[in-house]
Amino acid sequence: MGFKVEVGLVHSGAEQNSGSYQLVIAGGGPAALSAAIYAARYGIEHVVLESWKPGGQAALTAEIENYPGFSSIAGSDLTNAMKKQAIEAGAVFRMETVESATEVNGKILVKTDSAEYMGDYLIIATGAAPATLGVPGESKYYGRGVSFCATCDAPFFRNKRAIVVGGGDSAVKEALHLTHVVSQLGLVHRRNKLRAEPYLAKKLVEHEKVTTYWNSHLTEVIGDEQGVTGVILDTPEGRKHIDTDGVFLYVGTVPATEPFASLVELDREKAVVTRNIVGTSNPRVFAAGDVTNNGFRQVVTAVSEGARASAAVFDLLENEE
Ligand code: NAP
Repeated sequence: MGFKVEVGLVHSGAEQNSGSYQLVIAGGGPAALSAAIYAARYGIEHVVLESWKPGGQAALTAEIENYPGFSSIAGSDLTNAMKKQAIEAGAVFRMETVESATEVNGKILVKTDSAEYMGDYLIIATGAAPATLGVPGESKYYGRGVSFCATCDAPFFRNKRAIVVGGGDSAVKEALHLTHVVSQLGLVHRRNKLRAEPYLAKKLVEHEKVTTYWNSHLTEVIGDEQGVTGVILDTPEGRKHIDTDGVFLYVGTVPATEPFASLVELDREKAVVTRNIVGTSNPRVFAAGDVTNNGFRQVVTAVSEGARASAAVFDLLENEE
């Protein structure tokens, strides 16, 4: 099943990648990779637009301990294995960032930073990006002590002090990762209860290197020409200045839906509103993983949704024939 027609779309960039496909998959994380594996195995003519962060957020997770089959695996090892499997199945990847997606003559026109693709169907699996606090010093010291990725930046903080902000799975997992290298770790959370998996939360708060700041807000990042030197916290005891070399922010995520805003219904948090798990308000568009409002944001659910989305497209293509 499946055919591919190269069309001469008007575009001033690198047109050699442009073309028409039965399915365009936007994203490069577990949901997109699983959709790619299933699309390739179903024989659907497809292209995967994976942007510049292959593996998505999962690839930036130091250790994944709840993906069935692996009691512990580095996130990048898991997503690399998924991509290898997708390529072996025949999946076609392009390292391009989707900039817009619109409906044109009953098809989906996807424009990237360097090409244009026409898809009979689209799967949105672009995941979510880290949210920011918007406090003074946060953007100024980004890359100079402020980080959204402990897995990537932990080696820079060997025997130094760090602060982690947030109380979810990302904050706790990445804070635990940091305990292996830093000398002291402060955990700042706006409530007095972590929402992370209790097993890991307990391990973190009982760690000898960790000091907790409950019911506290980070209000400013302080630094000098070398980078971060401290933070200001608003705590129940009042304003506190804490010396630190690094600030790791895990205060939630923002779904990467901007290019799709006019194509499908989004909720207040800008997540794609789904119907029957992977359907959207547009019958030619499906969505999978952290970009959706499905709630439970895990690798295991992302891969399941990616598979379902490609299966749904396969059924529709079969019925069209
Ligand atoms: P999250 O679950 O949304 O947690 C965000 C944390 O940041 C919450 O503790 C929240 O506080 C806090 N927060 C939000 N806005 C804040 C603000 N303006 N100021 C201070 N604190 C703020 O995000 P996440 O930890 O990145 O996880 C995202 C999803 O991925 C979740 O579904 C998570 O389960 C999943 N995930 C799973 C794993 C895994 O291995 N199982 C690993 C990473 C992520 P409150 O608690 O008060 O709301």
